[in-house]
Amino acid sequence: SRQFFVGANWKLNPCSRDEKKKLIDMLNNANFDKNTEVVVAPPTLYAIAVADLLRKDVKVAAQNCYIKASGAFTGETSPTQLTEAGIPYVILGHSERRTLFHETSSLVAQKTRAAIDAGLSVILCVGETLQERESGATDNVVKEQLGEVVKLVSSEEDWSKIVVAYEPVWAIGTGKVATSAQAQETQKATRAYLASALSPKIAESTRIIYGGSVNDKNCRELATQPDVDGFLVGGASLTPGFVNIVNANA
Ligand code: 13P
Repeated sequence: SRQFFVGANWKLNPCSRDEKKKLIDMLNNANFDKNTEVVVAPPTLYAIAVADLLRKDVKVAAQNCYIKASGAFTGETSPTQLTEAGIPYVILGHSERRTLFHETSSLVAQKTRAAIDAGLSVILCVGETLQERESGATDNVVKEQLGEVVKLVSSEEDWSKIVVAYEPVWAIGTGKVATSAQAQETQKATRAYLASALSPKIAESTRIIYGGSVNDKNCRELATQPDVDGFLVGGASLTPGFVNIVNANA
């Protein structure tokens, strides 16, 4: 069965060293369920420092990386550099990257390929806008986003390095969480897509987690859903309530 997975996406927070220390202390003093994989994604500038200070049973992720190992790409972070720095995970395709930084599904797929080739594991984000949901396009949007990845990444070994994060755009940072039925329905359809596009075995073993206004109040009910294998947490990952979210499946 699939190991429960909870990621903290700090986004572009914190801005002061003091806040950073408080967050690390909160994590280091927490009682986490031993059966849950916990990954924290600080801003890239802080990733190495956080990895050094953080308890070793919590892994660190970057929030983005480029498709090339090195070269004339001002401002980018290389997947090889992340591996060399001891950062095991990277978040790719977050809706903020797709929307604000114009990342296409094709680019996200190339990044996923490059990250896996460099030895990283990937938290691959997908999800529909409110307009897409209201027009009934949700499953097709997720299929299209994953389909580009499937073109470049198809082996069982490679997919063992991917966690799919279903993050409906309308639920991100809005306080408007998907109902457990909505999350289950889309994540079940996503797993069915992986089964048909790749294999039933890959579909069965790939973690599909939910993100979008998860907090310590709504996490338990979401966690009861059979196709919700964990969470990717934004705002609430900056609060003490994050500990309860990690333990939602305990
Ligand atoms: P919020 O939890 O703040 O809605 O953000 C979710 C998210 O984008 C995690 O990647």
